[in-house]
Amino acid sequence: MTLPTHAAVVVIGGGIIGCSTAYHLARDHKADVVLLEQGSITSGSTWHAAGLVGQLRSSASITRVLKYSVDLYKGLEAETGLATGWKMTGCLRLATNADRWTEYKRLATTARSFGMEMQLISPQEVKRMWPLMEVGNLVGASWLPTDGQASPSDITQSLAKGARMHGARLFERVRVTGFDMKNGRIVGVNTDRGTIACEKVVNCAGQWARQVGAMAGVTVPLQPVKHQYIITEKIEGLASDTPTVRDPDRRTYFKEEVGGLVMGGYEPNPQAWLPETPSGDIPDEWEFRLFDDDFDHFEQHMEQAIERVPALAKVGVKRMINGPEAFTPDGNFILGAAPECGNMFVGAGFNAFGIASGGGAGWVLAEWVMSGEAPLDLWSVDIRRFSDLHRDRDWVRERTLEAYGKHYTVAFPHEEYESGRPRIVSPLYERLKAHRAVFGSKLGWERPNWFAPAGMEARDVYSMGRQNWFEPVGAEHRHVREAVGLFDQSSFSKYELGGPDAQKALDWICANDVSRPVGRVTYTQLLNTRGGIESDLTVARLAEDRFYIVTGTGFRTHDFGWIRDHISGDLDVTLTDVTEDFGTLSLMGPRARDVLSAVTEADVSNSAFPFGHVREIHIAGHKVRALRITYVGELGWELHMPIGATGAVFDALMAAGQAFDIRPIGYRALESLRLEKGYRAWGSDITPNDTPLEAGLGWAVKLRKNTDFLGRRALEEAHGKAPQKRFAGFTVDDPEIVLLGRETILRDGKPVGYLTSGGYGYTVGKSIGYGYVRGEDGASNEYLAAGEYELVVAMERIPARIHLEPLYDPTGEKVKA
Ligand SMILES: Cc1cc2nc3c(=O)[nH]c(=O)nc-3n(C[C@H](O)[C@H](O)[C@H](O)COP(=O)(O)OP(=O)(O)OC[C@H]3O[C@@H](n4cnc5c(N)ncnc54)[C@H](O)[C@@H]3O)c2cc1C
Repeated sequence: MTLPTHAAVVVIGGGIIGCSTAYHLARDHKADVVLLEQGSITSGSTWHAAGLVGQLRSSASITRVLKYSVDLYKGLEAETGLATGWKMTGCLRLATNADRWTEYKRLATTARSFGMEMQLISPQEVKRMWPLMEVGNLVGASWLPTDGQASPSDITQSLAKGARMHGARLFERVRVTGFDMKNGRIVGVNTDRGTIACEKVVNCAGQWARQVGAMAGVTVPLQPVKHQYIITEKIEGLASDTPTVRDPDRRTYFKEEVGGLVMGGYEPNPQAWLPETPSGDIPDEWEFRLFDDDFDHFEQHMEQAIERVPALAKVGVKRMINGPEAFTPDGNFILGAAPECGNMFVGAGFNAFGIASGGGAGWVLAEWVMSGEAPLDLWSVDIRRFSDLHRDRDWVRERTLEAYGKHYTVAFPHEEYESGRPRIVSPLYERLKAHRAVFGSKLGWERPNWFAPAGMEARDVYSMGRQNWFEPVGAEHRHVREAVGLFDQSSFSKYELGGPDAQKALDWICANDVSRPVGRVTYTQLLNTRGGIESDLTVARLAEDRFYIVTGTGFRTHDFGWIRDHISGDLDVTLTDVTEDFGTLSLMGPRARDVLSAVTEADVSNSAFPFGHVREIHIAGHKVRALRITYVGELGWELHMPIGATGAVFDALMAAGQAFDIRPIGYRALESLRLEKGYRAWGSDITPNDTPLEAGLGWAVKLRKNTDFLGRRALEEAHGKAPQKRFAGFTVDDPEIVLLGRETILRDGKPVGYLTSGGYGYTVGKSIGYGYVRGEDGASNEYLAAGEYELVVAMERIPARIHLEPLYDPTGEKVKA
């Protein structure tokens, strides 16, 4: 077949992800698709995958993506005539200690919240299902009956055939060598067999995706890591429908294969693939290739596995597989439109669950490519969760290896990564350390999570129940409610939008009305065409033609890209990221005004400086942008100063604040304070899956104004009807109950939703959760109020109370930071 000179969409890579994407582009969108594979279909990582297919993840949307894979694999043979090897064997996860058991109880609850039936079973039941297993040290196991296994190569060939049947053209032995670019967009794909002009490119190049991305200036932060498993000879008594097994406390997994076992594991000391090429790039020529067997490294798994399945000691190893796979710094895969190049989409970095994800990832990626919007909340895998930091290959490698090593460790709540830190520090880092700050990290920034009192070790001690920081954070929380606290929020993402058309641009992008006088601050969401919430931020009008935009630390790339991409090309505006130009201190608490007036000559009285306003004031001789807003439900200001002045302003505030008992406060107290006040957090409480009407944020939408805005049409259609789901707060009376998010909400005994976030409110003295309650005929106020509620917490039903108003509201102030 001759290579075409033009295609609407070029997919690079003929692994499971590329083939699935091409299949869905052709089947669902009738797109003109060409797929290019440098070797043969499946010849990268796909052919040597072990083929376990699990479905449950901590995000509901990603779980939905994985469930979709299973549904697709079940039915694909009927369509293409090529089998996928899908077997619904179910999956056992083994627990050998109390922490793991608690983790599974929470996991089983999460599964049910997401509509999957996961049970917890006894060691005896495990033995009955898996007679060859040694169950002596088991506490029990989780059992997910709908998980299974499949043949990676067969699925991929079946998807490739399906793609062709729907009109896609797939070419093997064509290597992409570069791109023709125009105005930052790809206009042509260069290959060793000619150039293809195109509108869009999908980079599904597996572990080569970083290199392929770099050809268009796109950062795809992944690191190939060597991953090994063995396939044994036939084992007497091993049934073909034997469940797959994950034994995380022994870091191993098992799967039946032609009467024998596949056994592999995730070691704490993983080996990155570091090719000895000058660039460190991985070689083009790697078709159906593996590394040499490394029994020395694998021995740690062997020892553990034999204790679990003694029959392994007596059976021969038929084959060992030592292959590379693309892993990422946070263990999640990478999907979506590249921030650096608007028409390159990426689907890569599958962290050894690319077979499980393949079907669903191809489906959502194809939707994304065609509509320009993710079809559901895919934030946890969105390529825009990364930043410039992720261009640093050494940092990415170090963090990725840490994430790989943690693959099977117990996931404690609030756990922080340790590698590659400290990376980005605010000017207050040393000062906060002197105050005994315990730092966490967000997008590379060190941020104080809490402050250890004298006599207490300044570090997190993780556990499944209340952790060591629980009381000190309570003290910080109360301090903000009763006196005044100072938060270092310098890591906030900050942009400036200037130019004659700045307001016009924001009128279209923002759901709330930002066309207010100079000096006003507006809290707003940015919506997609479905009315789903893409961002949640603050816009301060500094001048007629100049706006200052502040959003969360982790959303820097995402929100900047969203704003930039939705400004019409004919508008005269300039969007600049000024994050590093400004330090940010939030001065919050009933004594905040006393402190502020002691350090500035500006009038900060309520009449001169009301809520929701921005003023330029001076502190310690430095110009400070002061925004009167709050995320904690107290009187307060967010102070933005030139980054170099942050230390001086902090010192001045701390000195003047002494008389009012000021102290620095960390992010964990902030979380507790915002939970009480009912402020929504983007990424958990409000996401692209949720509209402001569902989220109870209709008051921040300019539907009454005659201004068109992105998402308006969808909201108008929904307006006036009771939404299908509504955001609500919940409390439980037992202070020992730990809420973390994803607990099931029961209304009159029936599941109606799950918590999107959870924590503890020290002022109200209760655990607090938020989540959406669904109602078949609409979730009206009456419907919400009429029910009796319980939360399922780690499989236990706990009576709960619903709240439709903030739990704590001394100020009644609506706008948040
Ligand atoms: C030992 C091992 C066991 C595993 N077990 C499991 C498992 O049990 N379950 C599971 O879900 N996952 C498992 N995985 C992970 C799974 O194999 C991968 O996640 C999945 O195959 C990734 O698919 P892909 O399409 O992204 O990459 P690949 O299969 O590597 O496909 C990428 C393709 O892009 C092509 N390409 C690259 N550059 C170019 C270029 N310039 N021009 C043209 N083509 C190019 C490559 O040749 C390659 O074929 C395992 C992985 C390993 C290593």
